[in-house]
Amino acid sequence: EAFIPKIIEVNYIEGSGDKRWSSYDFPWTKELEVNNKKVFGNHSFRPNQREIINASMSGCDVFVLMPTGGGKSLTYQLPALIRPGITLVISPLVSLIQDQIMHLLQANIPAAYLSANMEWAEQQEILRELNSDYCKYKLLYVTPEKVARSDNLLRHLDNLHFRELLARIVIDEAHCVSQWGHDFRPDYQGLGILKQKFPNTPVLALTATATASVKEDVVQALGLVNCIIFRQSFNRPNLWYSVVPKTKKCLEDIDKFIRVNHFDECGIIYCLSRMDCEKVAEKLQECGHKCAFYHGSMDPAQRASVQKQWSKDEINIICATVAFGMGINKPDVRFVIHHSLPKSIEGYHQECGRAGRDGQRSSCILYYNYSDYIRVKHMLSQGAIEQSSMTSGYNRSNMINSGRILETNTENLVRMVSYCENDVDCRRLLQLAHFGEKFNSSTCQKTCDNCLKITSFIEKDVTEIANQLVELVKLTGQRFSSSHILEVYRGSLSQMVKKHRHEIVSLHGAGKHLAKGEASRILHHLVVEDFLGEEVKKSDFYGSVSSILKVNEPKVRNLFAGQRIILRFPSSVKASKPGKSDATPAKGSLTSEKLNVMQIDPPSPQTEVDHILSA
Ligand code: ADP
Ligand code: MG
Ligand code: ZN
Repeated sequence: EAFIPKIIEVNYIEGSGDKRWSSYDFPWTKELEVNNKKVFGNHSFRPNQREIINASMSGCDVFVLMPTGGGKSLTYQLPALIRPGITLVISPLVSLIQDQIMHLLQANIPAAYLSANMEWAEQQEILRELNSDYCKYKLLYVTPEKVARSDNLLRHLDNLHFRELLARIVIDEAHCVSQWGHDFRPDYQGLGILKQKFPNTPVLALTATATASVKEDVVQALGLVNCIIFRQSFNRPNLWYSVVPKTKKCLEDIDKFIRVNHFDECGIIYCLSRMDCEKVAEKLQECGHKCAFYHGSMDPAQRASVQKQWSKDEINIICATVAFGMGINKPDVRFVIHHSLPKSIEGYHQECGRAGRDGQRSSCILYYNYSDYIRVKHMLSQGAIEQSSMTSGYNRSNMINSGRILETNTENLVRMVSYCENDVDCRRLLQLAHFGEKFNSSTCQKTCDNCLKITSFIEKDVTEIANQLVELVKLTGQRFSSSHILEVYRGSLSQMVKKHRHEIVSLHGAGKHLAKGEASRILHHLVVEDFLGEEVKKSDFYGSVSSILKVNEPKVRNLFAGQRIILRFPSSVKASKPGKSDATPAKGSLTSEKLNVMQIDPPSPQTEVDHILSA
């Protein structure tokens, strides 16, 4: 191999649950309380807000994992307000920034932003103010390319820092740093320069979406020191999740679903392409829904107008690409429908997260078929997919990396497919496992399709298979991703398998007889239970990353010493396979009925299952 993989070691300290940070005895506690009420109009703090603020104001680097809508902005806006100096905020999207600044100015907090596509004179004006002896701004927002490409800005920051006026550096949507994230932005990787230049200025990194690998990537790339991590459960109990076979009658299914369950309520339908958005919107309009489309090739004024109509409830439904959503703050979104396969579980979780901000029950329905997987994969390879936050498009350094990015994207997509094809496990458990969070399925209370349809289980001893999988990871040198290991185990003869001559490994094909998805379930279980670890590998010159499985020896010793692994499988139910059901209209319409029943008046689950089976 031409490169030596470097395993990253990251130091961080768990902050959630540490009593120190929830103390009311900080010198600034009183001021926090007063301003939270008076300026921001909040009655109290939400979970972790006070703790994050206290840790950050104590001068620590802080990493925050908080679901969308959890209230991350307050954790830097409030300190910015009550401390001297200026807070630098890096945020990926100009529209997000403008929205924030509007709110700040409404609250009488002086704030400004700089972005590359701003008038030169206007930029000069702001820079001049930064230089002035008494700079009025409390917050300065910039897009990441400003930091990466403007020496002028860095000089001004230097100057602020020299005058002890650079209070804090905030990296919002910090997952954009990582190629593992669904929103990778190359310019975010250059942000490490900030910590290098201003090692004593506290950094606050915020995101709503980070797997273990993304988290380590972010901490590493930003150079955070002894960083304190605050995280909270990503489970959203009021969202009901379902995956439904996508058929030729998909649009009729969607129409019916909305009419029966969410008539005249507000929702988002995510579509893969711009054309899909327009097609779906047109069809739903014909069906009498107040509906519009939203995508990247509309001009900004058009987009703003659609978004505004939607915010004001003049339109109920928006058919959009993933370009729509970041920073959307409408509390009463009652449903999020995915008309086609999302690109990653993280992206999916985030998109669903736009529903039910007000805590009321809301639906998340994903229409899945296997041919969409092929379609998305093809579009990924063409770079033809609209990115949720790409404003500046791909640049050169990104192009150099594009091979690796494609690999990462494909891996993310494969995981999404296995989520869709899983008809056994709780959807919440599957999503949360992806964020490194353990979840007890019984807490789901039948609010996902899988928990709903499975009424009885048999317990199966899968220790043998688990042993084989662990063995296979070892046999292949602990250098491959889970999807590769599964390919080998199931006996694939793909290019990748052949390239590494894995078709001659002794366990190649040992899992051939297993039902599809079973091996992957067991492998994921091994990861969640820590028998296997997933490690990020920074592999080459350009800093690209991949995720590889490693064996956790001490834990695995128990496994080989006779510890059994028992997993639950549905017993009687021949669960309906969501995959590969391209052209079975009857099944499609039945599925909508099934959903209708589930959403409105959950019957006894057994009737439900009988109903499906009698189809
Ligand atoms: P995030 O960035 O985590 O997605 P935001 O910072 O945009 O979330 O906040 C989401 C919404 O929650 C905003 O409307 C904000 O005003 C509101 N909010 C934040 N903190 C509180 C609080 N302590 N009490 C009430 N509302 C809050
Ligand atoms: Mg935010
Ligand atoms: Zn469930």
